[in-house]
Amino acid sequence: MSRESLLGYRLEDLEQVARDNGLSAFRGRQIARWIYLRRASDFGEMTDLPGAAREELALRYTITGAQVRGHWTGSGGAAEKYLVGFPDGAAVETVLMRYRHGDTLCLSTQVGCAYGCPFCASGADGLVRDLSVEEILAQWYLVQRSLDPLGDRVSRLVYMGSGEPLANYDAVVRSLRLFNSAEGPAIGSRRMTLSTVGVVPGIRALAEESMQVTLAISLHAPNDYLRSQIVPINRRYPLGQLLSAARHYANRTGRRVSFEYAMIRGINDHPDLARELAILLEDTPCHVNLIRFNPVQSSSWEGSDDRSIEQFRDVLSLSGIAVTVRRSIGDDIEGACGQLRRRFGED
Ligand code: SF4
Repeated sequence: MSRESLLGYRLEDLEQVARDNGLSAFRGRQIARWIYLRRASDFGEMTDLPGAAREELALRYTITGAQVRGHWTGSGGAAEKYLVGFPDGAAVETVLMRYRHGDTLCLSTQVGCAYGCPFCASGADGLVRDLSVEEILAQWYLVQRSLDPLGDRVSRLVYMGSGEPLANYDAVVRSLRLFNSAEGPAIGSRRMTLSTVGVVPGIRALAEESMQVTLAISLHAPNDYLRSQIVPINRRYPLGQLLSAARHYANRTGRRVSFEYAMIRGINDHPDLARELAILLEDTPCHVNLIRFNPVQSSSWEGSDDRSIEQFRDVLSLSGIAVTVRRSIGDDIEGACGQLRRRFGED
């Protein structure tokens, strides 16, 4: 009989596990501490639980069935890619970005992706399956365990790995709440960023969740004609609907929305497009991040040169739009969403 994984269980779920196994509910709190605070790898380490209970729990449950299957370091040590594998053979990448002020982890939410953006390797073979809450948490748990001996801590999370987070809505929202909970990893919701390609119903639903998570929207173009070529989902949720949902999110949460704009040479980097972008965004509380496009094998597009990026930035800035040029890291280890990954926490 396969054992159930407890990673991804909330405190109340673990209290129920304790009761189901003839223990007092407060044992659930102890189990939560062992899993989320001390990153125990098995029940034998949970020394404040009775020995018989530890043995009984180990027969029925495991902490996680996920494992690190590969590990690469790049960007002079600033980025580390982990390949996290699951019992059914599926695997996803999670990328750790290391900064002076703390570590940021880029999480995947699906195996593959259904959205087929032409510049993205994650979507090249379509969607394989959604990740469960446990599998999203497992990426953090395994990486944090490797940081524990160094005394380092993942202090920020970005949902920018493979998959579209809002297409796996329930598991993603549960994972955000668990990451944020005092009995879980206790990562502040303002230190979590969810990146979407523009799934409008998901943005509107997220706005009602009473969370302070930063919403990052992959924009990449200021008009529907161009954006539909770069981001195919734009044909379903065109810019009018997307910007309306973004404003709704900003109003409900009091948080500025981040717009990510990958600068592609000769495609979306002309100063006229910057002027169009400034008009598009003038009523939306937002911050624009310009990131040089990172060439991929499946596309002939190239990154913009420095001068074009600076001109584009200046047009936005002079129009009153908050804008930052970001540099992506982890390109040399081919992080799944290397297009968007950028230096977080520089604001
Ligand atoms: S960019 Fe994001 S939404 Fe588009 S295919 Fe890649 S993972 Fe999917």
